[in-house]
Amino acid sequence: MTADMRWRSVIGLEVHVQLSTASKMFCRCEARFGAPPNTLICPVCTSQPGTLPTLNGEALRLGVLAGLALGCTIDPSTKFDRKNYFYPDLPKGYQISQFDRPLCRDGHFKFSTEEGEPREVNIVRAHLEEDSGKIIHPEGVNFSLVDLNRAGTPLLEIVSGPDLHSPDEAMAYLQELRRTLRYAGVADCDMEKGGFRCDANISIMPVDSDTLGTRTETKNLNSFRFVAGALQAEIERQAAVLESGGTVIQETMAYDPDTGKTSVLRSKEDAHDYRYFPEPDLPEFRVDPAWVAELSAGLPELPRARQTRYAVDLGLNKRDADTLVAEKELGDYFEATLELTKKPKETANWLLTELLRLSNDRKLPIHELNTTPARLAELVNLVASGGVSIQAGRLLATAMEEQPGQSAEQLAQSMDLVQLSDDGALRQIVEQVIESESSVVERYRSGNVGLLNALLGSVMKASRGKANPKAARQLLLDTLDS
Ligand SMILES: [Zn+2]
Repeated sequence: MTADMRWRSVIGLEVHVQLSTASKMFCRCEARFGAPPNTLICPVCTSQPGTLPTLNGEALRLGVLAGLALGCTIDPSTKFDRKNYFYPDLPKGYQISQFDRPLCRDGHFKFSTEEGEPREVNIVRAHLEEDSGKIIHPEGVNFSLVDLNRAGTPLLEIVSGPDLHSPDEAMAYLQELRRTLRYAGVADCDMEKGGFRCDANISIMPVDSDTLGTRTETKNLNSFRFVAGALQAEIERQAAVLESGGTVIQETMAYDPDTGKTSVLRSKEDAHDYRYFPEPDLPEFRVDPAWVAELSAGLPELPRARQTRYAVDLGLNKRDADTLVAEKELGDYFEATLELTKKPKETANWLLTELLRLSNDRKLPIHELNTTPARLAELVNLVASGGVSIQAGRLLATAMEEQPGQSAEQLAQSMDLVQLSDDGALRQIVEQVIESESSVVERYRSGNVGLLNALLGSVMKASRGKANPKAARQLLLDTLDS
């Protein structure tokens, strides 16, 4: 029996998301990843004496949008506080954050587990704060360097209730959270650039108990895999402690992905006392309910709702609906094509096979391909109307991407892919076959109806594969039975 079966885990996550603003939270410096160290700084974000912060209105707007997307309440006013601690990457000696009046609170956020089970997590709060700088430790020297480019980048910290009960559930929640924030246009949540980081709180208790255990917090997990790894490591470590008669101590842990183990970063005794107090250099901010209502009305359809619509209203299978919704661009592309085809399944099929293949081959995102939604719709419609076969449609997809000046129909003509569907040419072939295979026709007419397939095969052969099988079959039937 594994630790997961003997113990029930209780998990709460704190996620830091960098908001997609052009400039920093309290100054005009550009908020951008990857610039040479200390080139995106000014007296405010390096906290020179006498400087004052000014709130970035766009950060406030994105914070409200995020809160709405997470089902939170947005109070009509909010304020900032100083969170005091010393660290070399924090030039002020405090971080401007929000303490007792967060911008967003009491959200209800739904997601589904990998197996499709619905779950709901309470969002206790989501508040605005500024990011710190970064410390760089060059190898082989006895000093460290500080890069303040990131200092003052707008963050939203999203705190969930202790509502998650396994590493898999935590992952599913994080994935839904990430794509929701991306859909809402709030943040790109690029984990490799530190745009989405997670602290994980976890405790365990016997499966038949309802008394919460002591929790630990594992800091700074910057990939989904690390979150799952750290949670699993903590479940096993805490279980081993309790099963050997020990007690779990409230500690802050660090996770080492190389060993798959957690270790103590600091104990409760040296936990920070942040001495929060209201930020005297910023006023209280009014958050007009009418403005909030306007932002709420402007929120796009969020991924979970879109996925349900694709599965229920459009009848797509779960896997296709999942794939289409995973990235907003792909879903938007699908919608634009569907508008012109009105054929959900066919459109999804062509998009998820041929278009993703082209995007892969060309190493281009789907919206940068020559094949626009309008062109994909031409192809889908041409195949659906029987103008070309599915096999021919695949050849056509590649040709359309390579020759954006030519329509699907023009290319089908010039590549000799047009299916014989209409009477003229096809009728001629059918009549020829009936004439040349008179003995088969006779046996068919005397009751051996299974021979229709043999005759259809002959028609396909005579047309060199270009006959539309459905049309040919109907024409054969009509001619034979007349
Ligand atoms: Zn600055």
